[in-house]
Formats: sequence, structure tokens, C-alpha cells
Amino acid sequence: MNDPRPPSTRAGPVDAADVRSRVASTIRADVRALSAYHVGRAEGLVKLDAMENPFALPEALRERLAGVLAEVPVNRYPDGAGDAVKDALARSLPLPEGAALVLGNGSDELIQLLTTAIAAPGACVLAPEPSFVMYRLNAQYANVRYVAVPLHADFSLDADAMLAAIARERPRLVWLAYPNNPTGNRFAPATIERILAAAPGLVVVDEAYYAFADDSFLPRVLEFENLVVVRTLSKIGLAGLRLGYAAAHPSWIAEIDKVRPPYNVNALTQAAVPVILAAADELARQATTIRSERGRLVQALAALRDVCVFPTETNFVLVRVPDADAWFSSLRNAGILVKNLHGYHPLTSQCLRITVGAPAENDALLAAIRRCP
Ligand SMILES: *Cc1c(COP(=O)(O)O)cnc(C)c1O
Repeated sequence: MNDPRPPSTRAGPVDAADVRSRVASTIRADVRALSAYHVGRAEGLVKLDAMENPFALPEALRERLAGVLAEVPVNRYPDGAGDAVKDALARSLPLPEGAALVLGNGSDELIQLLTTAIAAPGACVLAPEPSFVMYRLNAQYANVRYVAVPLHADFSLDADAMLAAIARERPRLVWLAYPNNPTGNRFAPATIERILAAAPGLVVVDEAYYAFADDSFLPRVLEFENLVVVRTLSKIGLAGLRLGYAAAHPSWIAEIDKVRPPYNVNALTQAAVPVILAAADELARQATTIRSERGRLVQALAALRDVCVFPTETNFVLVRVPDADAWFSSLRNAGILVKNLHGYHPLTSQCLRITVGAPAENDALLAAIRRCP
């Protein structure tokens, strides 16, 4: 009755409508208009949608890891700089003398940090499209202008359009996925060199698929004033660890480090990575198997009437089919999850992106795709 109790003891939950109106007056309108990144449930399905490595770590390596991880003092913060991980990476990579590294919680975090570091009022981020969706989303999160330049229909870079857009927009940041996701092809290095020469700011070459590609800019990272190479361990079999790294001249790395959360890479990941990199030949063997399975998949898919297969230097294959929605559903009903890119971008209309799986998974995919409508 007229016995107003202090809020802390008021019974019952808050009114949902009151919360919603508080959200509406507090959260940015453009954020409210977004939908959260959707990760589909895949229990019981053959998972060929997310470019994961289908193979587990070898048993002996898992046992060694278990021993190492058991000793990690998780009551302590991790090494903020991740020096042991950087040393192990530097030893295993074709990194030029004098280049520096910064670690990320996956390369997704590095995309966010790079965007944050350039996000001055009026700044512009530029990328070809279709490409990795996080380039655009992070520009939006950081409130910077984002300019997309369409690829040619064969998914090669439109050099003239890229150079014109760079001259017009003066982007602080240009993203180039090398090879590109979701198209699978690797852009012409000569075009990338022209973009590096023309860009007033940073050009980030994102090499998430380096293990399945025939070229890399990592050894050349100090040949250009404005080149950062970003990589991840996700696609080579360690997606759950969440480790990415950026390589560049130390002057760039020092600035990225300033916007990095101090303990962004957790202690278990930091302890695991040197152990796993010491057995890098195991991962390389898996990558070789994936490459040869990719070849088999490409050949078998190309032999199918109605299926157009695009060139790939990744661990996935992009195909165009007569009815992507129907084929996606048919595969889904057969227990196989792929990525439907119809409606994602005009250039990927009627396209499905199929991650290369283990041999039996690829056999199941081929059997199911032959039964598509
Ligand atoms: C998968 C992918 C990433 C993200 O990798 P994480 O390290 O797992 O965050 C970045 N860039 C491209 C082009 C990718 O395909």
C-alpha cells in the first residue's frame, strides 16, 4: 500500500517493457538494428560449414598437452605480451628479421583492434566484396565509414575500381583476404602490390588460409611501409584455442598493442601453442591431407552436371548450383551442414560454400549432392 519499500528488497522481477525502453534509449540505434552473429547448431550433422579442420590432434600430442595444461597456474594472469607464444611462432614462421608480432584472441580480435586503432572521425575502411564479413561489421561497431568495392564476376580484384576508390576515399585501412573467404580464390599479388603502393594508410593481408595456399606475403612484410599480415591458427586445426597473430614493422605493432586488452590471450592457450607448434609437422600432414581431399572434391563436383566449381586455395570449395536454397535443405536433410551464400552478396547468388572434411565426410557430401533436386 503506501509503504514504498527500498528498491533492493522489492519483490519480483523488473517489468520487461521498462527494460526494453531503457535499452532503446541507451544502446546505439545501429547496434539495436543488428542481429547477433548467428552460429548454427550442428549436433549430429556432418559439419562442413565453418572451415574447421576435421582431424583431431594426434593422441600422443594430446597426452603431452594434458600434462602441460595441468601445470598452468590459472590463479595467475597470463603473460600479457605472450612472449613464449611469439617466440614459438617466430621460430616456426618465415618471418623476416626485424618484423614484430602481436597476438589476438583469434584473428577476429585483431580485425577489431586494427579497426579501433584507425577509427578517427571521418576515417574510412575499404574492402572488396564479397569478402570476410567481419571487416564491415567491425567498421560499423567502431562507427567508421565502410566502402565496399565489388570483385569481378570471376572473384578477381577489380584493380581499376579498387585504385579509384582508394584515390577517392583515402581509406586508413584496406582489407584483403589472401586467399579470399567466401570465394576461395587468391588475388593476383601484382594487384595487391599496386594497392599497397596507392593506399595512404594500412593494407592488411588476411592469410587465414595460408596453410592451403601457394603464396604468402608474410616473408615480404618489411618490403612495404604499410603492410600488416594477419593469420590465425583456426583453420589449421586449432579453432577452439582462439589464437591469431599480426606481423608487421614494429612501429605498427606498437600501436596495435596499445588498443589490445592486456590479457587477451588466455593462459591455457599460451601454454598449449608452443607444445603444438613443436609438433607442427603433424598439423602440416593434416593440411596436406586436406589439400588432397580438396582436389578430389573439386574433381568430383566438377564432373556433376549443374554444378559450377570455382578455383580454391583454401580448405573450402565454392560451388554454384541451380537452386542453392533447395540444395542446402536437401543436404541438411541428409545430415550435412554447408554454408548457403545465396542472398549474401549478388556475386554469390546460388552459391554454397563447402568446407573440405575428412574423407568419409566428403564421400557423404558427394553422395548427398548427387541426390539434390
Ligand atoms: C576464419 C577467418 C578469420 C577468423 O579467424 P579466427 O582466428 O578464428 O577469428 C579471419 N579472416 C578470414 C578471412 C577468415 O576466413
